[in-house]
Amino acid sequence: MGIISRIRKLFSALFGRKEYPLYETCAFCGERAYLPFHCEFCNQYYCDMHRLPFDHNCKNIDEWKRRPASPPPKS
Ligand SMILES: [Zn+2]
Ligand SMILES: [Zn+2]
Repeated sequence: MGIISRIRKLFSALFGRKEYPLYETCAFCGERAYLPFHCEFCNQYYCDMHRLPFDHNCKNIDEWKRRPASPPPKS
């Protein structure tokens, strides 16, 4: 468990699309979503509306808050 496994997981999510579902039911609202978003924090699939951890009351939202999702606006 560490940064390496996180990076490998990220890369497999980016490039190893073999198992990525084309359609998946949103775990929050139950809508069938085309190219669903995978939440790596709770390991569930979500539609466009609920892809972000705070949109689907992610159980691991604290972990998500700790990591910057995008580069800081000031630079
Ligand atoms: Zn949804
Ligand atoms: Zn989540």
